[in-house]
Amino acid sequence: MTSSEKTNIAAFLDLAGDYLSGGYSRTRNEYNFTDDQVSVLTADQTAQQKDGSSTDTLESIAKEIASCTRCGLCSTRTNTVPGEGIVQPLVMVVGEGPGAEEDATGRPFVGRAGQLLDRMLDSKGKIGLSRSTNCYIANIIKCRPPGNRSPYPDEISACLPYLEQQIKVIKPKCILAAGNTAVKALLGSNDGITRLRGSFTVFRGSLTSDSEFEIPLLATFHPSALLRDESLKAPVWDDLKTLRAKLCELDNSYADRMADIPL
Ligand code: URA
Repeated sequence: MTSSEKTNIAAFLDLAGDYLSGGYSRTRNEYNFTDDQVSVLTADQTAQQKDGSSTDTLESIAKEIASCTRCGLCSTRTNTVPGEGIVQPLVMVVGEGPGAEEDATGRPFVGRAGQLLDRMLDSKGKIGLSRSTNCYIANIIKCRPPGNRSPYPDEISACLPYLEQQIKVIKPKCILAAGNTAVKALLGSNDGITRLRGSFTVFRGSLTSDSEFEIPLLATFHPSALLRDESLKAPVWDDLKTLRAKLCELDNSYADRMADIPL
């Protein structure tokens, strides 16, 4: 590792440092779901997804989510958490699902992991992303699993159509999949985050419907994993630099802004 790389990692550790004491209580992803479990929907869900105007806008999708009873999580949630941020953003961040703070507020990534996510996305201006300017933040599932357990495959399958519909409306330039659950569900893969992170792949928007579209996707570790394991900070910083380089290719005004900000 060169000294400049060491300095960059140190800067990232510094910005993340405030968040590294204590833990964010989320259980590890303990299941291996199959491609079929990810992509199979009931006929009823597919019909709802294709049912014209009710899924055309973020508001209508959020309204549908708010009254959703597709899985058992509807009986324990306080609020649904559809997502928030900018439409046609540079990046759509996709996490796993709401925790306690998100359930209480109806907003994604507002707890400790969310605060770290916000700091990672900005990285003291070196990455220059935020939910208020150029990102949209969402999750694979929209309701909190009790006790912050990982979502079950049937809960993921039930909820994925909402995310895919959101992606179609939001039209992000690229997707940052945060953690195992997000990357496995979005790619329909059984490989874990350690294998799938580090370089761009393609999200094909046909998980749950016929229509095809492709968006560059980068996977990285979930911020709550960073809160548990400091050794993940260096690979996450590498991923953020990879994201910045891709965004410089995809968006001239981002590239111009970043040109004056050395890594
Ligand atoms: N973890 C997630 O994956 N999503 C949230 O919204 C909060 C914590």
